[in-house]
Parts: sequence; C-alpha cells; structure tokens
Amino acid sequence: MDGCIFCSIVKGTIPSATIYENSEFKVIFDIAPVSKGHALILTKEHYDNIFDMDADTASKLFSLATEVARAMKNELKCDGLNVVQNNGEAAGQTVNHFHMHMIPRYAGDDVGINFKSGAEADSEELQELAKKIRKRI
Ligand code: 5GP
Ligand code: ZN
Repeated sequence: MDGCIFCSIVKGTIPSATIYENSEFKVIFDIAPVSKGHALILTKEHYDNIFDMDADTASKLFSLATEVARAMKNELKCDGLNVVQNNGEAAGQTVNHFHMHMIPRYAGDDVGINFKSGAEADSEELQELAKKIRKRI
C-alpha cells in the first residue's frame, strides 16, 4: 500500500534488521525497543489490523509466533515474553499495517504493559453480552 512504512520494509525499500522471513511474514527488530530483543512479526500482505485479517493467515501467523518466541527465549535467556497486538488508534496502534509485538521480559524490568483489573462484572450482564457476541461469530 502506498505510503505504508511497513509495506516499504516488507519490500526492502526501507531497511530493517530482519530476523527471519518466509513467503508470508517478515520478522524484524522494533526500531525503538522497549526491551532487549523486542521484535515485530509483519504480514507481507497489507492488512490494516486484526479486523480485516483472514483466519488462515492468522493461524499461520500464530504458529510462526510460537517458533519465534521459543527461539528468542533460548537465545536471549529472557524470563518471559509478552505478545502484544494493537488494533486501532484507541488501542494504541500507531502503524496501520498488521504487526505483532514479541516483547521479551526480564525479571524486575520496568516495561509498562500491565493493566489492572476493573471492578467485578455482573454475571447476568456478561451472559447477555456473550450471547450477543456469539451470534456474530
Ligand atoms: P504499534 O503502536 O502500532 O502497535 O507499534 C508500532 C511499532 O513500530 C512501534 O513499537 C515502533 O517503534 C515501531 N516502528 C515504527 N516505525 C518503524 C520502523 O521504521 N522500523 C521498525 N523496525 N520499527 C518501527
Ligand atoms: Zn502496509
């Protein structure tokens, strides 16, 4: 897509530190890592985000994510790893080309991804909402 920075990275017209690529995905280091080894899995095809991605691509993506996660853990000796994937400006997405963050975590680091639980939900309201969403799946 014209003007998309990650499409340019996929094409190679903008350089990136590439960890791995195959016909559908490219795994690169984030230019502004929040921890050592912070990587991004990009789709080679342009999808804005999860809302326009097909299930087949998504399943291949997550399968690759498991391999990348294990490779990162083995090499970086990280203590944990967050998989973060932002969809839409309200959710913190700043680059509108699908990407999955692979964020290695080290015991005692101060990476700020944690969110606090809210107040306990009303179980009847949850049942009603579940029914409405289920109808749309
Ligand atoms: P988002 O906020 O959309 O989930 O994440 C976008 C990520 O892309 C950010 O972590 C940002 O540092 C990274 N990023 C933005 N521009 C570039 C770039 O040109 N190259 C690389 N490697 N990462 C980028
Ligand atoms: Zn793109």
